[in-house]
Amino acid sequence: MKAPKMTYARADSVAQALALLAEHGDGANVLAGGQSLMPTLNMRLSKPDLLIDINRLEDLAGISVEDDAVRIGALTRHAAVQRSPIVAEHLPLIAEAMPHVAHVAVRNRGTFGGSIALADPAAELPACILALGATITVESVRGRRDIAAADFFKGLFETERQPDELLIEIRIPCQRPGTVHAFMELSRRQGDFAIAGVACAAETDGETVTDAKLVYFASEDRPTLAANAVAAIAGKVWSDESRSAAMAALSEDLDPMDNLQGSAAFKLHLQRVLTGRVLDQAIERARAA
Ligand SMILES: Cc1cc2nc3c(=O)[nH]c(=O)nc-3n(C[C@H](O)[C@H](O)[C@H](O)COP(=O)(O)OP(=O)(O)OC[C@H]3O[C@@H](n4cnc5c(N)ncnc54)[C@H](O)[C@@H]3O)c2cc1C
Repeated sequence: MKAPKMTYARADSVAQALALLAEHGDGANVLAGGQSLMPTLNMRLSKPDLLIDINRLEDLAGISVEDDAVRIGALTRHAAVQRSPIVAEHLPLIAEAMPHVAHVAVRNRGTFGGSIALADPAAELPACILALGATITVESVRGRRDIAAADFFKGLFETERQPDELLIEIRIPCQRPGTVHAFMELSRRQGDFAIAGVACAAETDGETVTDAKLVYFASEDRPTLAANAVAAIAGKVWSDESRSAAMAALSEDLDPMDNLQGSAAFKLHLQRVLTGRVLDQAIERARAA
C-alpha cells in the first residue's frame, strides 16, 4: 500500500518543529529515522495530516558525557550509538543490547530517540534505559521538562510525552564501579523483534546480589521492572536455591500478553529461563572484575 495523503514539512530548527507541533498537535507526526513510522504510514495504521521531518536538526544528534551521565541526542542513529567509544566505556549494557536492535540497514537510519518515543514493548532500548535509571527530556513551546524513565512508559506504544512535545535527549547515568550489567533476549533470528528479553544492572560482589534492576521486555505492554524477583534474592548468597527463588517470584512481577510470538505461559517460561541466565552472567562478570 501507499502512504495516505499528507503535508510534509522539513524543520530547519527545533523552534520551527515545536511551533508546528504546537499548531497541529495530535494531527502531526515527527519523522526521525522513519524505520517504524514509514511502514505504519504505508499500511495506513497512522494517518497524520502533517509529517514533520527532523532529520536536518543536527543539534538533536550526538553523544557526550556530562556530570557522570551520558547524553544521547534524540536524533542519534542506532549505528552511531553502537560505534560510540563513550557508550562502550560508560554504558556497556546499551553497547551489548545494540546489535540486537534490528539489522544493520535499519540501525543506519533508525534513531535512539525514535525507539524511546515509539515505546514498542518488544524494543530493547526502552528496557535498557529503565534499568539504568535514565531521564528523558522533552520540549514544547510551553518549555522543557525532564521525565524519569520509570514514569515515561505508560502502556502499549504509549508514553508520557504529549502530542506537542519533541523528544530532545536521553541522559543515562554512567555505570558505577561495583555494578555489573547483563543483557539477553530470545528471538527467532538475530535482529528480529524479541519474543522475550531482559536488561539487568546489578550490584554484587560476585557472591551476593545486594540490589538489581531487572527489566523485562517483549512480554508485557511496556518495559517492566521486576521487584519481587529481586526481593527474593537481595542480600542472599547466589546459589541454585536463590536462582530458583528469583525464577519463581517472577510470576508476581509479570503478566505476559498472548500474541503471535507465543502464549502468555510460554513467555513467562522464557522470561524465567532468562532470569536465571542473566543473573548467572552478572555474578560471573562480578567475579571476573
Ligand atoms: C525490519 C525491522 C526490524 C526492526 N527490529 C527492531 C528490533 O529488533 N528492536 C527494536 O527496538 N526496533 C526494531 N525496529 C525499529 C527500529 O529500531 C526503529 O528505528 C525505531 O523503532 C524507531 O526509530 P526511528 O528513528 O526510525 O523512528 P520513526 O520511525 O521516524 O518514528 C517512530 C515514532 O517515534 C516518533 N518520534 C521519533 N522521533 C521523535 C522525537 N524526537 N520526538 C517525538 N517523537 C518522535 C515518531 O513520530 C513515530 O511515532 C525494526 C524496524 C524494522 C523496519
